[in-house]
Amino acid sequence: MFIEHFDVVIIGAGLSGVGAAYRMQTKCSKKRYAIFEARAEIGGTWDLFRYPGVRSDSDMFTLAYPFRPWKEAKAIADGPAILKYVRETAREFGIDRHIRFQHKVVSASWSSNDLRWSLEVQNAATSETLHCTCSFLYGCTGYYRYDSGYQPEFPGRDRFRGQFVHPQQWPEDLDYSGKRVVVIGSGATAVTLVPAMSRKAAHVTMLQRSPSYILSLPSEDGFANLLRRNLPPKVAHRIVRWKNILVGLGLFQLCKRAPTFARKLLRKGAINSLPQNYEVDTHFNPRYEPWDQRLCFIPDNDLYRSIRKGRASIATGEIDSLTEDGVLLKSGQHLSADILVSATGLQMLALGAVRLVVDGVSIHPGRTFVYKGTMLSDVPNFAFCVGYTNASWTLRADLASIFLCRVLNHMGRKGYRTCRPVCNTHSMETRPLLNLTSGYVMRAAADLPKQAAKKPWVIRQNYLLDLLTMRFSRMEDGVLKFGSATPTASVGAPEQVLTASAD
Ligand SMILES: Cc1cc2nc3c(=O)[nH]c(=O)nc-3n(C[C@H](O)[C@H](O)[C@H](O)COP(=O)(O)OP(=O)(O)OC[C@H]3O[C@@H](n4cnc5c(N)ncnc54)[C@H](O)[C@@H]3O)c2cc1C
Repeated sequence: MFIEHFDVVIIGAGLSGVGAAYRMQTKCSKKRYAIFEARAEIGGTWDLFRYPGVRSDSDMFTLAYPFRPWKEAKAIADGPAILKYVRETAREFGIDRHIRFQHKVVSASWSSNDLRWSLEVQNAATSETLHCTCSFLYGCTGYYRYDSGYQPEFPGRDRFRGQFVHPQQWPEDLDYSGKRVVVIGSGATAVTLVPAMSRKAAHVTMLQRSPSYILSLPSEDGFANLLRRNLPPKVAHRIVRWKNILVGLGLFQLCKRAPTFARKLLRKGAINSLPQNYEVDTHFNPRYEPWDQRLCFIPDNDLYRSIRKGRASIATGEIDSLTEDGVLLKSGQHLSADILVSATGLQMLALGAVRLVVDGVSIHPGRTFVYKGTMLSDVPNFAFCVGYTNASWTLRADLASIFLCRVLNHMGRKGYRTCRPVCNTHSMETRPLLNLTSGYVMRAAADLPKQAAKKPWVIRQNYLLDLLTMRFSRMEDGVLKFGSATPTASVGAPEQVLTASAD
């Protein structure tokens, strides 16, 4: 039986996987790599989500790749423009030729005898299970389940006669013109949907249990547009990218170090943008401190504008039950609805649900520690990619890919065949992977890898510090252990044919 072998397998062809492939091609050009993508398309998040108005809430100068300038007018871009950008990047650099679509990696099993991973891959097109091997595995699988979003139980759900929709499975033909819509939720998705739907709907109500912090940003960056008119695209992109990195870091630090002041500023922004005597403290004054949960960004005050025009409104309170024609709140208020949108969030998922096994022992991600935010304690030749929670995902994802290339090149130079971060987990204080108190993060915390209180096991939400570590830190730091043992058994050879066995 011939089994195809790769130097590196990247799992996922979203924003991160495509960026990782670019780094692989340019920094480790001799490595033979493939991307296994479960879906039939490139783009991940930006292909999956199709709800009205879907957009980034980070600016595109930091969400786009540093190696391919963002050229569109809008700095806060809509989903289709981001998808187009990711696809064009894959095409421009020939990355698309490396992608195996509809190939879902189900399990990966490391053998210290063979010094390689054996992958079990489901081919959705043929319903076959394929097997192949790789020397290094890189998970760019995103952070949530694709098959369904988070759906809390609403009492009386069966009673509701209208349409019930989750943004992760948006019906392509949903006609909401002239309809009364209630959007349940207060996160990034809800604040995007409400102004977008209010353009055609009779009225949209955003029903939130408790408020989120909201900050309006201009959808177009005047400084960026000025630079782009006068400088080569790459130079302009680099300058604006750095400007936005520093502004973002400054904002985050302000919120963390002076939360009372930041809260006042955010509240003032809401007061200035909403009608006089609006109940700002009921609907826009959260219970938590700024950045304990993600800040919600809105472009050009769009949410506030739709409230001012009377096309949208906010209701803050707890749901008692769904009724035949809407939602009854515990306060007794009833919100009538033809369509209910449950913008209640995602279900986080570790490592794309790939079952990891090392020398016959199953690895539970929740019992591992994260090394430099990108490798797992005691798991050899494996890295994964997770973005920032307080800045654009790509900033950290790209650093992870650059670091991985450094590791691979170091191994090549020194003749090493393996590397694994080794830690004494008993002496380490355990902290959750993500430093947010949002529901979706808390629900998944036990299943996600952990961080600790000290370097290199801390995930810092700080691009500048990470830039130094990921690009310039010593490879042989006493924690990342390299090995040069030769395999005791041989499994196939490069360039051989992928085998298939019936599922
Ligand atoms: C609606 C929405 C808006 C967002 N807006 C922003 C924003 O403005 N700024 C920001 O920084 N972040 C934002 N995010 C976070 C966003 O997910 C990241 O920006 C980014 O798109 C993540 O890219 P990724 O490639 O790491 O993951 P994804 O986009 O999730 O892609 C992962 C890919 O891996 C594939 N995959 C997963 N498991 C397997 C497997 N076992 N086998 C094979 N393939 C697999 C998936 O099919 C998918 O194609 C947003 C997220 C959502 C849901």
